[in-house]
Amino acid sequence: MQNVSDNRDLYSGMIRLHILHHAEHDAIFGAGMAEELARHGYKISPGTLYPILHGLEKRGYLKSEEERSGRSVRRLYKITASGRRALKTSKLRVRELFGELIEGK
Ligand SMILES: [Zn+2]
Repeated sequence: MQNVSDNRDLYSGMIRLHILHHAEHDAIFGAGMAEELARHGYKISPGTLYPILHGLEKRGYLKSEEERSGRSVRRLYKITASGRRALKTSKLRVRELFGELIEGK
């Protein structure tokens, strides 16, 4: 598996969109999202992922809250209305890029 840091600059937008995509369907948390990204071939360390999540929250795309279960606490992230709008616009751009990059249009 390729380490994200190898091409971090190129992948960073895709990772952010991927996070928003999953947050649109369900609340996400850091460790679960790292697993999901690994499944797609992005090996990403907590030290890289958490600043991305914080950044998405700072820009208003995600909103987080702490969830306690027993002694453990985890931070859950949910998409905001602004995050949904941004994702929708981004999807159009991804489709456009996909057309050129993959389908040669
Ligand atoms: Zn996924």
